[in-house]
Amino acid sequence: MKRLSRRIGKGMGMTSERTRKRLMERLRGGGIHDESVLLAMESVPRHLFVDEALASRAYEDIALPIGYGQTISQPYVVALMTQAMLEEGVPERVLEIGTGCGYQTAILACLVEQVYSVERILELHRLSRRRTFDFGLRNVRFRYGDGFEGWLENAPYDAILAAAAPRQIPQKLLDQLAIGGRIILPVGESGEQKLFKIIRTPEGFKKKEMDSVHFVPLVAGTT
Ligand code: SAH
Repeated sequence: MKRLSRRIGKGMGMTSERTRKRLMERLRGGGIHDESVLLAMESVPRHLFVDEALASRAYEDIALPIGYGQTISQPYVVALMTQAMLEEGVPERVLEIGTGCGYQTAILACLVEQVYSVERILELHRLSRRRTFDFGLRNVRFRYGDGFEGWLENAPYDAILAAAAPRQIPQKLLDQLAIGGRIILPVGESGEQKLFKIIRTPEGFKKKEMDSVHFVPLVAGTT
């Protein structure tokens, strides 16, 4: 948090304090109670992650298009997944699948030591890498690749978050979790997706079903 609010938390004009505060109230009302998550959500300027034409809607609790048929996730869902990730304590190394516009990436970078983020669309990968660098966040490494493969070189991870839904939970991602690590991901076909949290214990995997959600599908390969 210190990192981001110090660097970009000031003077971003454009969107009023009021619309941001309203979003924070909505998140609280929806059950987001982790103060570090709320602070990160308040500090990261979501309007700078979308097209200028959409900036005025950036603090509504909705997904918005980011080009290439993809969307920036709904703030509530970003907050919910991040809060679920922190329940057992703050993870050090986090893998994100589906960088997209880099919004969730920035939230994670405010909260944990090191973020690794994989994206399969080259333009989004490049744009987010540049944006994150411009924001002064230096604890993120980006990879252009297929998230179904995870990022083996840096495994194991204390947490993995996926922003796109596979039909089944990819075994390769489970394998890259540290003992005590957790993965939070949407699973299922469009229209019937559920968010899951799976914790790797010394004995195996403990699976917990969370909310119904709407994510873009996790698509194999790169473009
Ligand atoms: N958290 C992002 C969400 C972007 S939408 C944001 O707020 O912007 C999900 C992203 O997952 C898209 O950018 C999509 O290209 C990416 N994606 C889908 N399948 C993927 C895969 N197999 N590997 C890596 N990224 C993938």
